[in-house]
Amino acid sequence: MVSRVIPVDTFDLVIFGGTGDLARRKILPGLYVRFLAGQIPEDARIVGAARSEFDDDGYRSFVSESIAEFVAKSKQDKTAISEFLKCIHYVPIDALGKGGWPDLAKLMRLDTIRAFYLSVGPRLFGPLAERLHAHGIANDKSRIVVEKPFGRDLKSACALNAVLAESFEEHQIYRIDHYLGKETVQNLMAVRFGNILFEPLWNSQYVDHIQITVAETVGVGGRGGYYDKSGAMRDMVQNHMMQLLCLIAMEPPSTFEPDAVRDEKLKVIRALDPVESHEIVRGQYLEGENGASYQIEAENPDSHAESFIALRTHISNWRWNGTPIYLRTGKRLRARVSEIAVVFKDPPHSIFGPQEGRRGNVLVIRLQPDEGMNLRVTIKEPGPGGMRLIEVPLDMSFAEALGNDGDDIPDAYERLIMDVIRGNQTLFMRGDEVEAAWAWTDPIIAAWEDRHDKPKPYDPGSSGPEDSLMLLHRDGRRWREIR
Ligand code: NAD
Repeated sequence: MVSRVIPVDTFDLVIFGGTGDLARRKILPGLYVRFLAGQIPEDARIVGAARSEFDDDGYRSFVSESIAEFVAKSKQDKTAISEFLKCIHYVPIDALGKGGWPDLAKLMRLDTIRAFYLSVGPRLFGPLAERLHAHGIANDKSRIVVEKPFGRDLKSACALNAVLAESFEEHQIYRIDHYLGKETVQNLMAVRFGNILFEPLWNSQYVDHIQITVAETVGVGGRGGYYDKSGAMRDMVQNHMMQLLCLIAMEPPSTFEPDAVRDEKLKVIRALDPVESHEIVRGQYLEGENGASYQIEAENPDSHAESFIALRTHISNWRWNGTPIYLRTGKRLRARVSEIAVVFKDPPHSIFGPQEGRRGNVLVIRLQPDEGMNLRVTIKEPGPGGMRLIEVPLDMSFAEALGNDGDDIPDAYERLIMDVIRGNQTLFMRGDEVEAAWAWTDPIIAAWEDRHDKPKPYDPGSSGPEDSLMLLHRDGRRWREIR
């Protein structure tokens, strides 16, 4: 297998918030790695813009330090780094002020792709978009990239969409959900729509239920203040898990074009049933050997925010009628694992007699760790003694299957930024998708707020509160183990 790097056209990319944590950890190292791979032309311009008073050289040192800290040692090539640094510039700009804009305008080249990455809080989206236009820096060909969180409810998301729409057309707006840039997430589409094997079985006639789990071992740590205002529902379910759900459940789009894919995702979100209170379990981790309790870390002893949530939902359409979908995410759980499990129904009849039972196949798509796929199938236990059946995994790790090419798989941010430059919105959320996701989420949150619901405590290193196990137990099902 030969990995193919298709260079993008040259571009001017301005990173507002270029001195922030996200720029330092993800955006700048990601750009360097794409440069090293030969994807970014040597005359590309990457301009940091923030309030700090750097000059070009000062910012180049900042970028060089971020590469040293966040790029794998094996990819730190001295010559490539010094070539990459030639692409780097800096303009001090206060998003709310007047200075710096003419300098930024001078750096922008005519007839070159312009992209503006707003790696700043959402309150600055409006002022930045407005000033980019007022100073003639943004034009019809410009692209604007915005980070999560995209609102904290339907109202604020609509307001952000409206602010951006004043200065940019929808086809210019790239709302990042970095989950969509993950290789395995894109593989969901390849597996479903590139093979004939799965699609005929991909419906309520054959699928018993679907489980999506995103479990973390870390707590909220230093993000406690931010997290406490959001909780797992806003931080993970409304965006990342919703996107996974869409990709696993959507109808086949007619083409792999941005709007064809996003139209199908939107239909899934709009077909989601409301979630009743008995279909949700919220939790908060207690103190454990490896750290303080959620409430201590969030510095809020009365916090009702959830660090864990499990819920059952359902898509009301022909394909999925009657198939429950279970979502579960949380912090300080037993293991770090993200996976989607499609649990098929049992075969209708066992020719091997009732004692052998009937076992449904399970297809697991692992997003992390060790990205890959696992299909549980039934075979005969080897040896004499009659027809005894056992279940074995058909396991594929993408890293093993791809050999050395697996090492070149770009990080989600690398891929997404290159897609921005290419002008491909397929892996970005459209405004109406975000609004539909909030329209489903808002009543769920409002309902638990109205009943003053308190999250259930759970032990760190566990699978979450006991009630989450009961959520499936009541339906005669079981969560897959978190391990
Ligand atoms: P940060 O606080 O570390 O950095 C913010 C940046 O914005 C700094 O460069 C700062 O100088 C700049 N800034 C602040 N006010 C400004 C102003 N008035 N004018 C010009 N520049 C200004 O934040 P961060 O963690 O880098 O996050 C940036 C955005 O990305 C936020 O919206 C955040 O929610 C989102 N995000 C961050 C992460 C992450 O891992 N850090 C992950 C997902 C989303």
